[in-house]
Amino acid sequence: MILPGATLGLLGGGQLGRLFVLAAHESGYRVIVLDPDADSPAARAADGHLRARYDDAEALGRLAAECAAVTTEFENVPAESLRMLAQHVPVHPAAEAVATTQDRLREKRFLQAMGLATAPFAAVRGPQDLAAAAAAVRFPAILKRASFGYDGKGQIRLDAPEGLADAFDALGGVECVLEQRVELACEVSVVLARAGDGEIASYPLAENEHRDGILAISSVPARIDDGLAAQAIEMAGRIAGGLDYRGVLAVEFFVTRDGRLLVNEIAPRPHNSGHYTVDACVCSQFEQQLRALCGLPLGDTRLLSPVAMVNLLGDRWLRPDGPRWQSLYAMHGARLHLYGKREARPGRKMGHLCVLAATRQAALDAALQLDAALSPATDDAG
Ligand code: ATP
Ligand code: MG
Repeated sequence: MILPGATLGLLGGGQLGRLFVLAAHESGYRVIVLDPDADSPAARAADGHLRARYDDAEALGRLAAECAAVTTEFENVPAESLRMLAQHVPVHPAAEAVATTQDRLREKRFLQAMGLATAPFAAVRGPQDLAAAAAAVRFPAILKRASFGYDGKGQIRLDAPEGLADAFDALGGVECVLEQRVELACEVSVVLARAGDGEIASYPLAENEHRDGILAISSVPARIDDGLAAQAIEMAGRIAGGLDYRGVLAVEFFVTRDGRLLVNEIAPRPHNSGHYTVDACVCSQFEQQLRALCGLPLGDTRLLSPVAMVNLLGDRWLRPDGPRWQSLYAMHGARLHLYGKREARPGRKMGHLCVLAATRQAALDAALQLDAALSPATDDAG
């Protein structure tokens, strides 16, 4: 067991890392962040910042020398860096698990091998695969880059096969997957932690609403029947087991109109849809990451209250007078989390808010009310 007082390493410096640093600090750990970006929300909160590329051998060596264990908040860290670190220091999640989930094709092949359903898809490794993919997948479809996509970036929606070749070029001619667009009843996600001994602790499902490919709102408990929820948790647990995973993992699911669960994607880290655990659960997903990393018993995932989370995107900051925080502080049950990012850009996640209430619907209604009140529509002329 790695106990409070120890120093931990973190690859990646975004908001997920920042929330990990805050949780680690609460338990008395120090954290050193490796991230190339000077404006890193996690590094600003951390005890040290190695500002270097993720494949910088010297920086990785220093991290290994100074830390008792290393984790990651970012699935696009080169798996090779995790492998290098693991020769000197415990690294969780392991390189292999991250490598499987950082490539959509590898991830989907892994899911198929586990017997888990996904949206129908075809691989597009190069222009030679376009015709076969278009024939294999029903349209409307979505062409997605196999790697380095997030928040719906690196994806092009297609209503018919005719646009496929152009879309492939527009994505840079890199490896892609063509996915059938599924008719969704809703989207849900499972966040869980798996310990070194295989024990699993799952959080209640979040129901997720996306806008423009970016998560907008999560609400908990999800409005799906208990049987389906249990099945999602069971599937997520099998995925974690199949990856021999240690740490916090999220699985995004599509719920189809005919009531089936399809795995959308796996995130080898805490997840945006699990932010509610900070305000509404006994042990947050970030404390859970700490516990799994340090070999401590997993924490209590119990939901203390229904909750809704709203992501706060940079668009709100770009308006003349910015977000109207007064409305947030005036609302009973609302909590604000800002990530300290210096520059607001459209679509950039700047923070989130959670509202706790007696029922999911009440939390969701209050969250939507706040969502509107923070950035009221400017419908006056001009
Ligand atoms: P993130 O990493 O932020 O979750 P991403 O860029 O990896 O996002 P996806 O999860 O693949 O993107 O897609 C983002 C959203 O787009 C999904 O949550 C869903 O709302 C919609 N979407 C993606 N693929 C499909 C599909 N095959 N059918 C229907 N909707 C889809
Ligand atoms: Mg996604």
